Amino acid sequence: MAEDKPARYTDFIREVIDNDLATGKHKSIHTRFPPEPNGYLHIGHAKSLCINFGIAEDYNGLCNLRFDDSNPVKEKQEYIEAIKEDIKWLGFDWEDREYYASDYFNQLYQWAMQLIKKSKAYVCDLSADEIRETRGTLTEPGKESPYRNRSVEENLDLFERMKTGEFPNGSRVLRAKIDMAASNINMRDPVMYRILHKSHHRQGDKWCIYPTYDFTHGQSDSIEEITHSLCSLEFEDHRPLYDWYLEQLGIFHPQQIEFARLNLSYTVLSKRKLLKLVGGGDINAWDDPRMPTLSGLRRRGYTPEAIRNFLERVGVAKTDSVVDMALLEHCLREDLNKRAQRVMAVLHPLRVVIDNYPEDKVEELDCVNNPEDPSMGTREVPFSRVLYLEQDDFREEPPKKYFRLAPGREIRLRYAYFIKCVDVIKDEKGKVVELHCTYDPKTRGGDAPDGRKVKATLHWVSANHALKAEVRLYDRLFTKANPNEVDEGKDFTSNVNSKSLEILRSCRVEPSLKDAAPGNRYQFERLGYFCVNPDSSDGALVFNRTVSLRDTWAKIEKAQKEL
Ligand code: ATP
Ligand code: MG
Repeated sequence: MAEDKPARYTDFIREVIDNDLATGKHKSIHTRFPPEPNGYLHIGHAKSLCINFGIAEDYNGLCNLRFDDSNPVKEKQEYIEAIKEDIKWLGFDWEDREYYASDYFNQLYQWAMQLIKKSKAYVCDLSADEIRETRGTLTEPGKESPYRNRSVEENLDLFERMKTGEFPNGSRVLRAKIDMAASNINMRDPVMYRILHKSHHRQGDKWCIYPTYDFTHGQSDSIEEITHSLCSLEFEDHRPLYDWYLEQLGIFHPQQIEFARLNLSYTVLSKRKLLKLVGGGDINAWDDPRMPTLSGLRRRGYTPEAIRNFLERVGVAKTDSVVDMALLEHCLREDLNKRAQRVMAVLHPLRVVIDNYPEDKVEELDCVNNPEDPSMGTREVPFSRVLYLEQDDFREEPPKKYFRLAPGREIRLRYAYFIKCVDVIKDEKGKVVELHCTYDPKTRGGDAPDGRKVKATLHWVSANHALKAEVRLYDRLFTKANPNEVDEGKDFTSNVNSKSLEILRSCRVEPSLKDAAPGNRYQFERLGYFCVNPDSSDGALVFNRTVSLRDTWAKIEKAQKEL
Protein backbone atom coordinates (compact mmCIF):
# COMPACT_ATOMS: atom_id res chain seq x y z
CA MET A 1 0.00 0.00 0.00
CA ALA A 2 1.30 3.46 -0.84
CA GLU A 3 2.48 5.43 2.13
CA ASP A 4 1.04 8.88 2.62
CA LYS A 5 3.95 11.16 1.96
CA PRO A 6 3.72 14.88 2.65
CA ALA A 7 3.68 16.85 -0.58
CA ARG A 8 7.23 17.98 -1.21
CA TYR A 9 8.01 21.35 -2.72
CA THR A 10 8.99 20.98 -6.35
CA ASP A 11 10.15 23.11 -9.25
CA PHE A 12 11.59 22.58 -12.73
CA ILE A 13 15.06 21.76 -11.39
CA ARG A 14 13.76 19.18 -8.94
CA GLU A 15 11.72 17.65 -11.77
CA VAL A 16 14.91 17.10 -13.79
CA ILE A 17 16.55 15.55 -10.74
CA ASP A 18 13.57 13.29 -10.00
CA ASN A 19 13.77 12.07 -13.56
CA ASP A 20 17.55 11.47 -13.40
CA LEU A 21 17.05 9.40 -10.27
CA ALA A 22 14.13 7.50 -11.75
CA THR A 23 16.03 6.60 -14.94
CA GLY A 24 19.12 5.62 -12.97
CA LYS A 25 21.29 8.31 -14.58
CA HIS A 26 22.40 9.21 -11.06
CA LYS A 27 22.19 7.33 -7.81
CA SER A 28 22.81 10.34 -5.62
CA ILE A 29 22.79 14.10 -6.04
CA HIS A 30 25.77 16.40 -5.72
CA THR A 31 25.58 20.19 -6.14
CA ARG A 32 27.96 23.04 -5.43
CA PHE A 33 27.91 26.74 -4.60
CA PRO A 34 30.69 28.45 -6.56
CA PRO A 35 31.30 32.04 -5.42
CA GLU A 36 34.10 34.08 -6.86
CA PRO A 37 35.89 35.65 -3.86
CA ASN A 38 35.77 39.14 -5.34
CA GLY A 39 33.22 40.66 -2.96
CA TYR A 40 30.76 39.89 -0.21
CA LEU A 41 27.70 37.71 -0.73
CA HIS A 42 24.38 39.46 -1.32
CA ILE A 43 20.82 38.23 -1.05
CA GLY A 44 20.94 37.08 -4.67
CA HIS A 45 23.69 34.67 -3.72
CA ALA A 46 21.48 33.51 -0.87
CA LYS A 47 19.00 32.38 -3.50
CA SER A 48 21.69 30.29 -5.16
CA LEU A 49 22.73 28.96 -1.74
CA CYS A 50 19.17 27.96 -0.90
CA ILE A 51 18.78 26.21 -4.22
CA ASN A 52 22.09 24.35 -4.14
CA PHE A 53 22.18 23.44 -0.46
CA GLY A 54 18.40 23.04 -0.34
CA ILE A 55 18.38 20.47 -3.14
CA ALA A 56 21.29 18.55 -1.60
CA GLU A 57 19.34 18.48 1.66
CA ASP A 58 16.07 17.39 0.04
CA TYR A 59 17.71 14.49 -1.81
CA ASN A 60 20.10 13.43 0.94
CA GLY A 61 22.92 14.51 -1.31
CA LEU A 62 25.92 16.75 -0.87
CA CYS A 63 26.71 20.36 -1.69
CA ASN A 64 30.28 21.58 -2.03
CA LEU A 65 31.57 25.06 -1.40
CA ARG A 66 33.92 25.89 -4.21
CA PHE A 67 35.70 29.18 -4.52
CA ASP A 68 35.90 30.04 -8.17
CA ASP A 69 39.24 31.80 -7.78
CA SER A 70 40.74 31.88 -11.25
CA ASN A 71 41.13 35.64 -11.56
CA PRO A 72 43.73 36.93 -9.05
CA VAL A 73 43.14 40.56 -10.01
CA LYS A 74 40.00 41.05 -7.92
CA GLU A 75 40.13 38.22 -5.43
CA LYS A 76 41.06 38.50 -1.75
CA GLN A 77 41.35 36.35 1.37
CA GLU A 78 39.10 38.85 3.21
CA TYR A 79 36.28 37.91 0.85
CA ILE A 80 36.82 34.18 1.39
CA GLU A 81 36.48 34.58 5.16
CA ALA A 82 33.41 36.79 4.82
CA ILE A 83 31.73 34.38 2.38
CA LYS A 84 32.24 31.44 4.74
CA GLU A 85 30.88 33.38 7.69
CA ASP A 86 27.78 34.41 5.74
CA ILE A 87 27.03 30.88 4.50
CA LYS A 88 27.28 29.51 8.05
CA TRP A 89 25.06 32.29 9.31
CA LEU A 90 22.39 31.41 6.76
CA GLY A 91 22.50 27.90 8.21
CA PHE A 92 24.27 25.87 5.52
CA ASP A 93 27.11 23.44 6.08
CA TRP A 94 29.64 22.31 3.48
CA GLU A 95 31.31 20.05 6.08
CA ASP A 96 34.84 19.26 4.86
CA ARG A 97 34.07 19.99 1.23
CA GLU A 98 35.75 23.37 0.85
CA TYR A 99 37.35 23.46 -2.57
CA TYR A 100 39.21 25.98 -4.68
CA ALA A 101 39.23 26.05 -8.47
CA SER A 102 42.85 27.19 -8.20
CA ASP A 103 43.73 23.80 -6.72
CA TYR A 104 42.82 22.35 -10.11
CA PHE A 105 45.21 24.58 -12.10
CA ASN A 106 47.64 21.70 -12.81
CA GLN A 107 44.87 19.48 -14.09
CA LEU A 108 43.40 22.30 -16.17
CA TYR A 109 46.81 22.92 -17.69
CA GLN A 110 47.10 19.24 -18.63
CA TRP A 111 43.66 19.37 -20.20
CA ALA A 112 44.56 22.47 -22.18
CA MET A 113 47.56 20.61 -23.63
CA GLN A 114 45.30 17.69 -24.44
CA LEU A 115 43.08 20.02 -26.50
CA ILE A 116 46.13 21.49 -28.26
CA LYS A 117 47.25 17.98 -29.17
CA LYS A 118 43.79 17.28 -30.60
CA SER A 119 44.09 20.49 -32.65
CA LYS A 120 41.20 21.88 -30.65
CA ALA A 121 43.13 24.81 -29.17
CA TYR A 122 45.74 27.27 -30.40
CA VAL A 123 47.90 30.11 -29.20
CA CYS A 124 46.70 33.40 -30.66
CA ASP A 125 48.83 36.56 -30.81
CA LEU A 126 45.98 38.99 -31.44
CA SER A 127 45.46 41.64 -28.78
CA ALA A 128 42.32 41.69 -26.66
CA ASP A 129 40.96 44.52 -28.83
CA GLU A 130 41.70 42.63 -32.04
CA ILE A 131 39.99 39.54 -30.70
CA ARG A 132 36.94 41.58 -29.85
CA GLU A 133 36.92 43.29 -33.24
CA THR A 134 37.14 40.00 -35.14
CA ARG A 135 34.51 38.23 -33.08
CA GLY A 136 31.64 39.41 -35.28
CA THR A 137 28.16 40.32 -34.10
CA LEU A 138 24.83 38.63 -33.55
CA THR A 139 24.12 38.99 -37.26
CA GLU A 140 27.63 38.65 -38.73
CA PRO A 141 30.08 35.79 -38.34
CA GLY A 142 33.52 36.43 -36.87
CA LYS A 143 36.85 36.34 -38.71
CA GLU A 144 39.30 33.53 -38.23
CA SER A 145 42.53 34.47 -36.50
CA PRO A 146 45.66 34.34 -38.70
CA TYR A 147 47.20 32.18 -35.93
CA ARG A 148 44.42 29.63 -36.00
CA ASN A 149 46.27 27.06 -38.06
CA ARG A 150 49.52 26.90 -36.15
CA SER A 151 50.95 23.41 -35.87
CA VAL A 152 50.43 21.36 -32.72
CA GLU A 153 54.19 21.55 -32.03
CA GLU A 154 54.29 25.33 -32.31
CA ASN A 155 51.22 25.66 -30.09
CA LEU A 156 52.67 23.35 -27.44
CA ASP A 157 55.93 25.28 -27.50
CA LEU A 158 54.27 28.70 -27.24
CA PHE A 159 51.85 27.59 -24.55
CA GLU A 160 54.72 26.19 -22.50
CA ARG A 161 56.60 29.47 -22.90
CA MET A 162 53.47 31.42 -21.90
CA LYS A 163 53.49 29.35 -18.72
CA THR A 164 57.16 29.88 -17.95
CA GLY A 165 56.68 33.62 -18.08
CA GLU A 166 58.50 34.50 -21.27
CA PHE A 167 55.77 36.82 -22.60
CA PRO A 168 54.23 40.02 -21.23
CA ASN A 169 50.61 40.38 -20.09
CA GLY A 170 48.12 40.44 -22.90
CA SER A 171 50.59 39.46 -25.64
CA ARG A 172 49.09 36.03 -26.31
CA VAL A 173 46.18 33.85 -25.30
CA LEU A 174 45.20 30.24 -25.71
CA ARG A 175 41.93 29.88 -27.60
CA ALA A 176 39.63 26.97 -28.24
CA LYS A 177 39.31 26.15 -31.93
CA ILE A 178 35.59 25.82 -32.45
CA ASP A 179 33.76 27.86 -35.07
CA MET A 180 34.07 31.56 -35.88
CA ALA A 181 30.72 31.42 -37.65
CA ALA A 182 28.82 29.83 -34.76
CA SER A 183 25.53 31.55 -34.05
CA ASN A 184 26.42 31.56 -30.36
CA ILE A 185 29.21 34.10 -29.94
CA ASN A 186 30.61 32.19 -26.96
CA MET A 187 31.56 29.41 -29.39
CA ARG A 188 33.66 31.68 -31.65
CA ASP A 189 37.08 30.48 -30.55
CA PRO A 190 36.74 31.58 -26.91
CA VAL A 191 39.79 32.39 -24.81
CA MET A 192 40.89 29.58 -22.49
CA TYR A 193 44.02 31.08 -20.93
CA ARG A 194 45.43 34.57 -20.58
CA ILE A 195 48.83 35.79 -19.46
CA LEU A 196 48.73 37.61 -16.14
CA HIS A 197 51.88 38.23 -14.16
CA LYS A 198 50.13 38.51 -10.85
CA SER A 199 50.38 36.66 -7.54
CA HIS A 200 47.49 34.42 -6.62
CA HIS A 201 46.19 34.38 -3.06
CA ARG A 202 46.67 30.60 -2.82
CA GLN A 203 49.13 29.77 -5.58
CA GLY A 204 51.54 32.63 -5.02
CA ASP A 205 53.74 33.21 -8.07
CA LYS A 206 53.48 29.69 -9.39
CA TRP A 207 51.36 30.75 -12.35
CA CYS A 208 51.47 33.61 -14.80
CA ILE A 209 48.76 32.17 -17.03
CA TYR A 210 45.24 31.88 -15.68
CA PRO A 211 42.27 29.94 -17.09
CA THR A 212 39.06 31.79 -17.92
CA TYR A 213 35.79 31.17 -16.10
CA ASP A 214 34.50 29.03 -18.97
CA PHE A 215 37.56 26.82 -19.09
CA THR A 216 37.52 26.42 -15.30
CA HIS A 217 33.95 25.98 -14.24
CA GLY A 218 32.73 22.86 -16.01
CA GLN A 219 35.95 20.95 -15.44
CA SER A 220 35.88 21.85 -11.75
CA ASP A 221 32.32 20.52 -11.61
CA SER A 222 33.55 17.39 -13.38
CA ILE A 223 36.48 16.83 -10.99
CA GLU A 224 34.11 17.09 -8.04
CA GLU A 225 31.58 14.81 -9.77
CA ILE A 226 28.84 17.37 -9.46
CA THR A 227 25.66 15.88 -10.91
CA HIS A 228 23.74 19.13 -11.44
CA SER A 229 25.50 22.44 -11.91
CA LEU A 230 22.87 25.01 -10.98
CA CYS A 231 23.54 28.60 -11.93
CA SER A 232 21.77 31.78 -12.92
CA LEU A 233 20.33 32.53 -16.36
CA GLU A 234 23.21 34.62 -17.66
CA PHE A 235 25.15 31.37 -18.07
CA GLU A 236 22.57 29.86 -20.41
CA ASP A 237 24.50 31.05 -23.47
CA HIS A 238 27.65 29.55 -22.02
CA ARG A 239 26.16 26.07 -21.68
CA PRO A 240 27.14 24.92 -25.19
CA LEU A 241 30.74 25.81 -24.36
CA TYR A 242 30.49 24.12 -20.95
CA ASP A 243 29.32 21.00 -22.76
CA TRP A 244 31.91 21.30 -25.53
CA TYR A 245 34.92 21.29 -23.18
CA LEU A 246 33.63 18.28 -21.26
CA GLU A 247 32.87 16.38 -24.44
CA GLN A 248 36.21 17.14 -26.06
CA LEU A 249 38.02 16.06 -22.91
CA GLY A 250 35.84 12.99 -22.51
CA ILE A 251 35.43 13.44 -18.78
CA PHE A 252 32.49 13.14 -16.36
CA HIS A 253 29.77 15.42 -17.62
CA PRO A 254 27.56 17.27 -15.11
CA GLN A 255 24.36 18.89 -16.33
CA GLN A 256 24.17 22.66 -16.16
CA ILE A 257 20.70 24.01 -15.37
CA GLU A 258 19.93 27.73 -15.19
CA PHE A 259 17.43 29.56 -13.01
CA ALA A 260 16.36 33.21 -12.86
CA ARG A 261 18.47 35.60 -10.79
CA LEU A 262 16.91 37.34 -7.88
CA ASN A 263 16.36 41.04 -8.47
CA LEU A 264 15.00 43.27 -5.72
CA SER A 265 13.47 46.70 -6.03
CA TYR A 266 15.28 49.71 -4.54
CA THR A 267 18.64 47.99 -4.48
CA VAL A 268 21.31 46.51 -6.74
CA LEU A 269 22.49 42.90 -6.68
CA SER A 270 25.82 42.95 -8.39
CA LYS A 271 29.14 42.74 -6.63
CA ARG A 272 30.69 45.14 -9.08
CA LYS A 273 28.08 47.78 -8.29
CA LEU A 274 28.15 47.12 -4.56
CA LEU A 275 31.94 47.46 -4.59
CA LYS A 276 31.52 50.81 -6.29
CA LEU A 277 29.23 51.94 -3.45
CA VAL A 278 31.68 50.73 -0.81
CA GLY A 279 34.51 52.64 -2.44
CA GLY A 280 32.47 55.66 -3.35
CA GLY A 281 31.90 57.29 0.01
CA ASP A 282 28.11 56.99 0.04
CA ILE A 283 28.31 53.80 2.02
CA ASN A 284 31.44 52.95 3.89
CA ALA A 285 31.41 49.19 4.24
CA TRP A 286 30.14 45.97 2.73
CA ASP A 287 28.24 45.38 5.97
CA ASP A 288 26.56 48.77 6.10
CA PRO A 289 22.99 48.07 7.26
CA ARG A 290 21.62 49.60 4.07
CA MET A 291 23.48 47.13 1.85
CA PRO A 292 21.71 44.06 0.40
CA THR A 293 24.75 41.99 1.41
CA LEU A 294 24.19 39.19 3.89
CA SER A 295 26.57 40.91 6.32
CA GLY A 296 24.66 44.19 5.90
CA LEU A 297 21.30 42.50 6.41
CA ARG A 298 22.68 40.72 9.49
CA ARG A 299 23.91 43.99 10.94
CA ARG A 300 20.55 45.53 10.17
CA GLY A 301 18.87 42.85 12.29
CA TYR A 302 17.62 40.42 9.64
CA THR A 303 17.31 36.79 10.71
CA PRO A 304 18.49 33.92 8.50
CA GLU A 305 15.00 32.42 8.87
CA ALA A 306 13.36 35.53 7.41
CA ILE A 307 15.70 35.49 4.43
CA ARG A 308 15.24 31.79 3.76
CA ASN A 309 11.49 32.09 4.09
CA PHE A 310 11.50 35.00 1.66
CA LEU A 311 13.49 33.02 -0.88
CA GLU A 312 11.16 30.06 -0.51
CA ARG A 313 8.22 32.30 -1.32
CA VAL A 314 9.98 33.79 -4.32
CA GLY A 315 10.58 30.24 -5.57
CA VAL A 316 12.64 29.05 -8.50
CA ALA A 317 11.67 30.31 -11.92
CA LYS A 318 13.05 30.31 -15.43
CA THR A 319 12.39 33.94 -16.28
CA ASP A 320 13.84 37.03 -14.67
CA SER A 321 11.65 39.32 -12.62
CA VAL A 322 11.99 41.99 -9.95
CA VAL A 323 10.75 41.11 -6.49
CA ASP A 324 9.25 43.84 -4.35
CA MET A 325 11.41 44.79 -1.38
CA ALA A 326 8.15 44.99 0.59
CA LEU A 327 7.88 41.20 0.42
CA LEU A 328 11.31 40.79 2.03
CA GLU A 329 10.30 43.21 4.77
CA HIS A 330 7.01 41.38 5.23
CA CYS A 331 8.85 38.09 5.82
CA LEU A 332 11.13 39.83 8.27
CA ARG A 333 8.26 41.28 10.29
CA GLU A 334 6.54 37.93 10.35
CA ASP A 335 9.62 36.32 11.87
CA LEU A 336 10.50 39.13 14.27
CA ASN A 337 6.94 39.33 15.48
CA LYS A 338 7.36 35.80 16.82
CA ARG A 339 10.77 36.19 18.36
CA ALA A 340 11.47 39.81 19.28
CA GLN A 341 10.95 40.95 22.87
CA ARG A 342 8.74 44.02 23.24
CA VAL A 343 10.20 46.98 25.08
CA MET A 344 9.37 50.65 25.36
CA ALA A 345 11.64 53.32 23.90
CA VAL A 346 11.10 56.97 23.08
CA LEU A 347 12.93 58.27 20.05
CA HIS A 348 12.00 61.97 20.28
CA PRO A 349 11.47 62.59 23.99
CA LEU A 350 8.94 65.07 25.35
CA ARG A 351 9.03 65.59 29.14
CA VAL A 352 5.77 64.91 30.94
CA VAL A 353 5.19 65.64 34.64
CA ILE A 354 2.30 63.89 36.43
CA ASP A 355 1.38 66.62 38.89
CA ASN A 356 -0.66 64.46 41.28
CA TYR A 357 1.81 61.55 41.40
CA PRO A 358 4.01 61.49 44.55
CA GLU A 359 7.59 62.85 44.06
CA ASP A 360 9.51 59.86 45.32
CA LYS A 361 7.20 57.09 44.42
CA VAL A 362 8.31 54.40 41.95
CA GLU A 363 6.07 51.55 40.87
CA GLU A 364 7.38 48.49 39.09
CA LEU A 365 4.83 47.53 36.46
CA ASP A 366 4.56 44.07 35.01
CA CYS A 367 4.99 44.14 31.22
CA VAL A 368 4.47 41.33 28.73
CA ASN A 369 7.61 40.39 26.79
CA ASN A 370 5.81 38.99 23.80
CA PRO A 371 2.06 38.65 23.41
CA GLU A 372 2.73 36.09 20.62
CA ASP A 373 4.72 33.87 22.93
CA PRO A 374 3.71 33.66 26.61
CA SER A 375 6.79 31.54 27.35
CA MET A 376 8.88 34.69 26.97
CA GLY A 377 7.42 35.84 30.29
CA THR A 378 7.18 39.31 31.75
CA ARG A 379 9.51 42.00 33.05
CA GLU A 380 9.19 44.95 35.40
CA VAL A 381 9.31 48.50 34.12
CA PRO A 382 9.50 51.44 36.54
CA PHE A 383 6.87 54.19 36.50
CA SER A 384 7.37 57.51 38.26
CA ARG A 385 6.30 61.15 38.31
CA VAL A 386 8.36 62.38 35.39
CA LEU A 387 8.12 60.53 32.12
CA TYR A 388 9.10 60.88 28.49
CA LEU A 389 6.54 60.47 25.76
CA GLU A 390 7.06 60.69 22.03
CA GLN A 391 6.88 64.30 20.78
CA ASP A 392 4.72 63.09 17.95
CA ASP A 393 2.16 61.70 20.39
CA PHE A 394 1.09 65.20 21.43
CA ARG A 395 -0.55 67.95 19.37
CA GLU A 396 -1.55 71.25 20.80
CA GLU A 397 -4.20 71.56 18.12
CA PRO A 398 -5.14 68.00 17.20
CA PRO A 399 -6.39 67.53 13.67
CA LYS A 400 -9.47 65.40 13.00
CA LYS A 401 -8.86 61.70 13.67
CA TYR A 402 -5.80 62.46 15.80
CA PHE A 403 -6.66 60.56 18.96
CA ARG A 404 -3.45 60.87 20.91
CA LEU A 405 -2.62 63.39 23.61
CA ALA A 406 -3.84 66.99 23.39
CA PRO A 407 -4.73 69.70 25.90
CA GLY A 408 -7.61 68.53 28.11
CA ARG A 409 -7.59 65.07 26.56
CA GLU A 410 -7.19 61.75 28.36
CA ILE A 411 -5.20 58.78 27.01
CA ARG A 412 -3.89 55.49 28.36
CA LEU A 413 -0.25 54.90 29.16
CA ARG A 414 0.65 51.34 28.21
CA TYR A 415 0.65 49.07 31.30
CA ALA A 416 0.14 52.11 33.59
CA TYR A 417 -2.62 54.67 34.02
CA PHE A 418 -4.96 57.03 32.24
CA ILE A 419 -3.44 60.49 32.17
CA LYS A 420 -5.00 63.79 31.17
CA CYS A 421 -3.10 66.80 29.84
CA VAL A 422 -3.72 69.88 32.01
CA ASP A 423 -0.96 72.29 30.99
CA VAL A 424 1.49 72.91 28.15
CA ILE A 425 4.86 74.62 28.72
CA LYS A 426 6.63 76.24 25.78
CA ASP A 427 10.03 77.84 25.28
CA GLU A 428 10.50 81.39 24.04
CA LYS A 429 10.18 80.19 20.43
CA GLY A 430 6.82 78.63 21.11
CA LYS A 431 8.06 75.06 20.99
CA VAL A 432 6.34 72.66 23.40
CA VAL A 433 8.98 71.53 25.91
CA GLU A 434 6.97 70.01 28.74
CA LEU A 435 3.48 68.79 29.51
CA HIS A 436 1.70 68.65 32.85
CA CYS A 437 -0.80 65.89 33.36
CA THR A 438 -2.84 64.29 36.09
CA TYR A 439 -3.31 60.59 36.47
CA ASP A 440 -6.25 58.56 37.71
CA PRO A 441 -4.93 56.09 40.35
CA LYS A 442 -7.98 53.87 39.81
CA THR A 443 -6.86 53.04 36.25
CA ARG A 444 -3.69 51.13 37.09
CA GLY A 445 -3.19 48.38 34.54
CA GLY A 446 -4.85 50.51 31.95
CA ASP A 447 -8.62 50.27 32.44
CA ALA A 448 -11.10 52.56 34.14
CA PRO A 449 -13.49 50.93 36.67
CA ASP A 450 -16.24 53.32 35.59
CA GLY A 451 -15.94 52.00 32.05
CA ARG A 452 -14.85 55.29 30.51
CA LYS A 453 -12.90 54.87 27.31
CA VAL A 454 -9.89 56.53 25.75
CA LYS A 455 -8.92 56.31 22.12
CA ALA A 456 -5.15 55.94 22.36
CA THR A 457 -2.59 53.90 24.25
CA LEU A 458 0.85 55.46 24.25
CA HIS A 459 4.29 54.15 25.15
CA TRP A 460 6.52 55.96 27.61
CA VAL A 461 9.66 55.67 29.74
CA SER A 462 10.39 56.94 33.23
CA ALA A 463 12.74 59.93 32.95
CA ASN A 464 14.84 59.03 35.97
CA HIS A 465 15.21 55.41 35.08
CA ALA A 466 15.47 55.39 31.30
CA LEU A 467 18.79 54.84 29.55
CA LYS A 468 20.15 57.14 26.88
CA ALA A 469 20.58 55.55 23.49
CA GLU A 470 21.51 56.36 19.95
CA VAL A 471 19.15 55.09 17.29
CA ARG A 472 19.97 54.85 13.60
CA LEU A 473 17.04 54.94 11.23
CA TYR A 474 17.58 53.51 7.78
CA ASP A 475 15.65 54.09 4.64
CA ARG A 476 15.93 52.56 1.18
CA LEU A 477 19.37 52.64 -0.38
CA PHE A 478 18.07 54.07 -3.65
CA THR A 479 15.36 56.58 -4.43
CA LYS A 480 14.17 54.62 -7.45
CA ALA A 481 12.65 51.14 -7.54
CA ASN A 482 14.97 50.52 -10.47
CA PRO A 483 18.28 52.18 -9.57
CA ASN A 484 19.60 51.50 -13.06
CA GLU A 485 17.11 53.90 -14.57
CA VAL A 486 19.33 56.98 -14.95
CA ASP A 487 19.56 60.29 -16.71
CA GLU A 488 21.97 60.47 -19.61
CA GLY A 489 25.61 60.62 -18.64
CA LYS A 490 24.93 59.39 -15.11
CA ASP A 491 25.21 56.00 -13.52
CA PHE A 492 23.26 54.14 -10.83
CA THR A 493 25.09 55.95 -8.03
CA SER A 494 23.16 59.09 -8.95
CA ASN A 495 20.07 57.34 -7.55
CA VAL A 496 21.57 56.69 -4.12
CA ASN A 497 19.18 57.97 -1.45
CA SER A 498 21.15 60.70 0.33
CA LYS A 499 18.63 60.61 3.18
CA SER A 500 18.92 56.87 3.81
CA LEU A 501 20.44 57.31 7.27
CA GLU A 502 19.15 59.44 10.14
CA ILE A 503 20.91 59.33 13.49
CA LEU A 504 18.94 60.17 16.65
CA ARG A 505 21.22 60.80 19.60
CA SER A 506 18.93 61.61 22.51
CA CYS A 507 16.62 58.63 22.59
CA ARG A 508 15.56 56.99 25.84
CA VAL A 509 14.95 53.29 26.38
CA GLU A 510 13.55 51.40 29.34
CA PRO A 511 16.15 50.26 31.91
CA SER A 512 15.68 46.54 31.20
CA LEU A 513 17.86 47.15 28.14
CA LYS A 514 20.98 47.86 30.17
CA ASP A 515 22.46 44.46 29.35
CA ALA A 516 21.28 44.35 25.74
CA ALA A 517 23.96 42.50 23.81
CA PRO A 518 25.15 43.22 20.27
CA GLY A 519 22.81 41.62 17.77
CA ASN A 520 19.86 41.37 20.21
CA ARG A 521 16.58 42.17 18.53
CA TYR A 522 13.62 44.02 20.05
CA GLN A 523 10.32 45.46 19.09
CA PHE A 524 10.15 49.03 20.36
CA GLU A 525 6.42 49.23 20.96
CA ARG A 526 4.57 51.18 18.30
CA LEU A 527 7.85 52.06 16.53
CA GLY A 528 9.33 49.04 14.85
CA TYR A 529 12.00 46.37 15.18
CA PHE A 530 15.45 47.37 16.33
CA CYS A 531 18.68 45.52 17.02
CA VAL A 532 21.76 46.38 19.00
CA ASN A 533 24.49 47.54 16.66
CA PRO A 534 27.29 44.95 16.76
CA ASP A 535 30.12 47.34 17.49
CA SER A 536 28.66 49.60 20.15
CA SER A 537 31.51 48.41 22.35
CA ASP A 538 32.29 51.61 24.27
CA GLY A 539 29.27 50.97 26.46
CA ALA A 540 27.01 53.32 24.56
CA LEU A 541 23.74 51.75 23.51
CA VAL A 542 23.31 52.01 19.76
CA PHE A 543 20.33 50.51 17.97
CA ASN A 544 19.75 49.97 14.26
CA ARG A 545 16.21 50.12 13.06
CA THR A 546 15.67 46.83 11.29
CA VAL A 547 12.25 47.61 9.90
CA SER A 548 9.28 49.75 10.87
CA LEU A 549 5.97 48.20 11.89
CA ARG A 550 4.05 49.47 8.92
CA ASP A 551 3.59 46.61 6.53
CA THR A 552 3.26 47.86 2.99
CA TRP A 553 3.27 44.31 1.65
CA ALA A 554 0.17 43.35 3.62
CA LYS A 555 -1.54 46.32 1.98
CA ILE A 556 -0.37 45.31 -1.48
CA GLU A 557 -1.62 41.78 -0.92
CA LYS A 558 -4.95 43.00 0.38
CA ALA A 559 -5.38 45.28 -2.62
CA GLN A 560 -4.53 42.38 -4.94
CA LYS A 561 -7.16 40.21 -3.28
CA GLU A 562 -9.77 42.90 -3.65
CA LEU A 563 -9.11 43.23 -7.36
P1 ATP B 1 27.55 39.38 -9.15
O1 ATP B 1 26.81 39.74 -10.39
O2 ATP B 1 26.91 39.87 -7.90
O3 ATP B 1 28.99 39.67 -9.20
P2 ATP B 1 28.24 36.75 -9.75
O4 ATP B 1 27.38 35.80 -10.47
O5 ATP B 1 29.34 37.31 -10.55
O6 ATP B 1 27.37 37.82 -9.06
P3 ATP B 1 29.47 34.68 -8.25
O7 ATP B 1 30.35 34.75 -7.07
O8 ATP B 1 30.03 34.17 -9.52
O9 ATP B 1 28.88 36.11 -8.46
O10 ATP B 1 28.14 33.90 -7.89
C1 ATP B 1 28.08 32.67 -7.26
C2 ATP B 1 26.79 32.01 -7.63
O11 ATP B 1 25.70 32.82 -7.22
C3 ATP B 1 26.67 31.83 -9.13
O12 ATP B 1 26.28 30.50 -9.39
C4 ATP B 1 25.60 32.80 -9.55
O13 ATP B 1 24.82 32.25 -10.57
C5 ATP B 1 24.78 32.98 -8.27
N1 ATP B 1 24.16 34.31 -8.22
C6 ATP B 1 24.78 35.50 -8.26
N2 ATP B 1 23.89 36.52 -8.22
C7 ATP B 1 22.67 35.95 -8.14
C8 ATP B 1 21.32 36.45 -8.06
N3 ATP B 1 21.06 37.76 -8.05
N4 ATP B 1 20.30 35.56 -7.98
C9 ATP B 1 20.55 34.24 -7.98
N5 ATP B 1 21.79 33.71 -8.04
C10 ATP B 1 22.83 34.53 -8.13
MG1 MG C 1 30.22 35.27 -11.58
